[in-house]
Amino acid sequence: MKLITVGSVAFDAIETPFGKTDKIVGGAGTFISLASSFFVENQGLVSVVGEDFPEETLNYLTKKGINIDGIQIKKGEKTFFWSGRYHNDMNSRDTLITELNVLGSFDPVIPSAYQGADYLMLGNLSPEVQRQVIERLDQRPKLIAMDTMNFWMDIALDELKKTMALIDVLIINDEEARQLSKEYSLVKAAMVIREMGPEILIIKKGEHGALLFHGEDIFFAPALPLEEVFDPTGAGDTFAGGFMGYIAATGDTSFENMKRAIIAGSALASFCVEKFGTERLTEITKQDFDERVSRFVSLANFEMNQLA
Ligand code: AMP
Repeated sequence: MKLITVGSVAFDAIETPFGKTDKIVGGAGTFISLASSFFVENQGLVSVVGEDFPEETLNYLTKKGINIDGIQIKKGEKTFFWSGRYHNDMNSRDTLITELNVLGSFDPVIPSAYQGADYLMLGNLSPEVQRQVIERLDQRPKLIAMDTMNFWMDIALDELKKTMALIDVLIINDEEARQLSKEYSLVKAAMVIREMGPEILIIKKGEHGALLFHGEDIFFAPALPLEEVFDPTGAGDTFAGGFMGYIAATGDTSFENMKRAIIAGSALASFCVEKFGTERLTEITKQDFDERVSRFVSLANFEMNQLA
């Protein structure tokens, strides 16, 4: 197996200025593995759902080459439920409801078929659970990436730091980087955060792109200026899944390849926001992807004339 993803598989109810959904399928693990399935055939998902979770979605994941033996189905229990409302700027949102349900007692189980995987993507979950997954692998993967959020910095900073000491790539947003490092400058923040463990840091800046800190090198990837953002839910997870899927498929963790992986993740994230939930992710063709990547290339490509 190439890649293991750990993350929530959930029901979401979303309100944006453009509309509202009832419970639809969401969850960080769902977005991540659907995005990485664009590049990787042999991957596994570790998660937990309740008896209420639709079998057809689990079948769909399998169809996408995602092994779901690592998803526990808890009889008589309910799936994690999250509800959020976006503000008019679509950049900020309020969490309306978080019902942990099965996620509250999540005890990750790694199926034997997953052992020996080269790449591990830890979706946003309690840092203790993220660490348990690392500890339950017989062999350390070549590259471990992790997402987290301000919530864990507020309530479980020590646990978070213990997990961060074990990973290679941290993927967070600018606000989280500032909170974690207590530095406003993102360059200074990156130095402080990399001292905590991850050698490689990716700072997402929403509609303003993403920064990659790798060795002595820094890369900036733009985000596509989109006419319409319909629902940003899962964009960060899709970015992470696209990034890690690309790395796992190419098996190359050099700076040059990580630049390409960031563009791959950014391109998939730019699709994700066009419809509610995971819907758009299920429609993208290779041609759609290639066209979007070429828009990224031309967006940041220029030649400077010599001054006379
Ligand atoms: P993002 O928009 O990238 O922050 O991710 C949104 C997804 O994260 C939604 O589909 C939610 O189901 C999921 N989510 C929200 N809160 C949590 C949480 N506390 N733990 C795990 N997953 C969550």
